[in-house]
Amino acid sequence: MVNPYEGCSGAWVRGNLHGHCSESSGCASVPLFAGIEKHEKAGARFLALTDHDTVTDLSAARARWPDITFLEGFEWSSSQNILFIGEKVPPLYELSLSEALREASGLLTVICHPHPYRGRDYWTIPMILALDPPPVAIEVYNSHYSRPLRTNPGPNPLYTDTWDAVLTQGLRVWSFANDDSHDPHDFGHTATFANVKDRSAASLMAALKAGRFYGSTGLRLEEVSVSGDVIHVRVDSDANGRFVGPGGRILGVAQGREFSLRGSDEDYIRFEAEGSRGRIFLQPFFR
Ligand SMILES: [Zn+2]
Ligand SMILES: [Zn+2]
Repeated sequence: MVNPYEGCSGAWVRGNLHGHCSESSGCASVPLFAGIEKHEKAGARFLALTDHDTVTDLSAARARWPDITFLEGFEWSSSQNILFIGEKVPPLYELSLSEALREASGLLTVICHPHPYRGRDYWTIPMILALDPPPVAIEVYNSHYSRPLRTNPGPNPLYTDTWDAVLTQGLRVWSFANDDSHDPHDFGHTATFANVKDRSAASLMAALKAGRFYGSTGLRLEEVSVSGDVIHVRVDSDANGRFVGPGGRILGVAQGREFSLRGSDEDYIRFEAEGSRGRIFLQPFFR
């Protein structure tokens, strides 16, 4: 069993990796600096700006917020959306998606909101599996789609079914939970907690690429360990927790703060929980 959290000796820091500003994205209503202020108030210490088909210049933001680690990015938006995030991101939105993915080595590539509206296909499983090279991650939760939108009354923020479907097909992808901040009420609901050795963008990218992070809408991780075939997880407040394996099969459920499971021959096992403080999504432990 491969534990992506092994060697997590650094600090857990909070951030958001999917967000827009009104200067660069027509769909967003919050300007860059006002948005960063909102994220900072919510506790974010790293941020990626991912405007639609443009890399927003962050030099003024870096100067004003020296304590925030910024990553560049954009949301490839010619058809189904996908995030490209890194320390330095070239204008790959000018390319077709397959060309852009081929040029994206070293970047994080993240499938956005696989089905943001109930009853309507967006990213289907075959579409995700056909991507070559494959993406690094998918979104498991996008809180922009947790409330009715002007454009559609049936939003859906949760994508565990898509994640389990592609994991079951053998595609080893991490998952992110993101604010996808566009409008004033979109900030601070959802976050990535990454375990970083220092506050540099390089350390952050290393943690994100290696799976040393988890998604949260409030619930926090206190401990995770694997000894032999047993996975042990502790969260910071009471929750309903479950271990999930191939086919989305529930391998174990419990209530409380401590959870453990002895794996057998599953290709992957992942842990998720939800309680009054919110949700948490850990990365998979792969066989
Ligand atoms: Zn948008
Ligand atoms: Zn977006």
